[in-house]
Amino acid sequence: MKYPYPIIGLEIHVELKTKSKMFCQCSADYFGKAPNSQVCPVCLGLPGALPVPNKTAVEWTIRIAQALGCTVPERSKFDRKHYFYPDLPKGYQISQYDEPIGINGRVAISDGIERKEFRIRRVHIEEDTGKLIHKGGETLIDFNRSSVPLVEIVTEADFHNSGDVKRFLEELQVIIRTLDVANADMEKGDMRLEPNISVLYLEKGQKWDGKTFPKYKVEVKNINSFRFAKMAIDYELERQTKLLENGETPVQETRGFNEKTNATVSQRTKEDAHDYRYFPEPDIPVMVFGKSYLERIRQSLPELPTPRAERLVAELGLRFQDAFLITRVKSTADLYEMLVAKMGKDKSQKIANHIVNRKVDVTAPVEEVVSAMEALFAEKNADPALLEKAVADVCAANGKVVTDYKNGKQQALMFLVGQVMRQMRGQADAADVTAALRKYLD
Ligand code: ZN
Ligand code: MN
Repeated sequence: MKYPYPIIGLEIHVELKTKSKMFCQCSADYFGKAPNSQVCPVCLGLPGALPVPNKTAVEWTIRIAQALGCTVPERSKFDRKHYFYPDLPKGYQISQYDEPIGINGRVAISDGIERKEFRIRRVHIEEDTGKLIHKGGETLIDFNRSSVPLVEIVTEADFHNSGDVKRFLEELQVIIRTLDVANADMEKGDMRLEPNISVLYLEKGQKWDGKTFPKYKVEVKNINSFRFAKMAIDYELERQTKLLENGETPVQETRGFNEKTNATVSQRTKEDAHDYRYFPEPDIPVMVFGKSYLERIRQSLPELPTPRAERLVAELGLRFQDAFLITRVKSTADLYEMLVAKMGKDKSQKIANHIVNRKVDVTAPVEEVVSAMEALFAEKNADPALLEKAVADVCAANGKVVTDYKNGKQQALMFLVGQVMRQMRGQADAADVTAALRKYLD
C-alpha cells in the first residue's frame, strides 16, 4: 500500500523598483513605454559595452536576503549564464552561480495556531531579459525590460501541497513590500513563480526522509496570480499521479500554465545546469562587503509582518487574525500602533476591529484617521433620547418588516438596524442600536 507524496520547490523572480537598470543608466521603469525607447549599448548587448553594477540593486538584494533569514557572505560575484534565445541579446545572462548574495534562509508562515517554516536555498541578483511580442505572424523584440534588476529566490523542496505554496507566496509578497524594494505584483509580472513539481510514492505510515527525490521534476511557467499558482500545482499533481498510477514516469520538462483551460501544457524539455556553461563574469570585479556595511543594512530592516503580528498578540492580547490582517501593509500597522499609543492599550482590540471592519479609511491623512477613530469611540455616548426616537420612527415606517421580525425572521432585524444607523448618521454603535431595537420590539 503506497500513497502519493507531492514534492514542490519554488523559484521566484522579483523585479526591483530601482530607478535605473542593473548594469547601465537606462530607466528601469519600462511599463507602458514605447518599445525600445529605454535602451543603450549595454542593455542591447552590443560588442564592447561594459556593465557597471547598480549599487542600490545589490543593497536591496542584501536586504531581501537578510529579511529571509539568509547568511550574506562577505564575498559575492557575478557569472555568465549562457543560453540562446532572442530576448537575450548577449547570448548570456549576467547572473550569479556559486557565490550568490544570500544562502540558507528560512521564512515562517503562521495562522496563529500552527507555525510552518520553509527553507530558502539561495537569493541572488541577475538581469531581466527583453520581451518577445508575437504579432501578425511575426516576432518582435522590446528591449526596454532588458537588464532590469531581478532577484531570484530559490526555496528547498519543502512544500507538499498547493495551499502552503500560496500562503508562502503571499507572505513573501508582504515581506518584499514591507522592505519597499519591489511592487511584487504577480498580475503585472513583477513577481513570477516557477514551481518544480514531482510526486514520490511512500509506504503507508512512512514519513518522507527529506532527501529522497523522484527521478524527474516538472517546472511550470506563466503563472501570474496566487490563484493560478494553486490551480497550476493542483493540475500538475493530478496529471503526474495519473501517469504514475499507470506505471509511467512523467517526462522531465518545462510546462506552461494556460489560464483559459486551467491546464499545463508541454513547452520544452528541461536543460540541465551544465548546459548553461556558467563562468565568472570577467567584466565585473568580485564584490566584497564589509562587516559594518552588512550590519548597517541589517539594522535598517523594518520589523517584518508576521513577527510584528506575533508581537502585537503578545503585547496587546490582540486576536491573531486581526493582528495578521493589520500587519499585511506596513503603513496600516504603523498607523495602528500610533492609534494605540494615543488612545490607550485598553482600546487596542477595539481599534483593531474598526480597522479590520474598515470603519475608518486607513489611507486618509493621519489627522483624519485619528478624528474618525475618536468619533467611533464617542458613538457609545449617542444621545439615548435621539436613539429612542430613531428606533420608534424606523419601526413606525416599516410595519411589514417589524411583523417579519416578530414572526421570527432575524434578517428583518438587520434591516431595521441599518435604517436606524442611517437615521443616526453614523453617530451610533451597531451594538447599541441592536439592543435598543430589541428592547423596543420585544
Ligand atoms: Zn541600457
Ligand atoms: Mn533566474
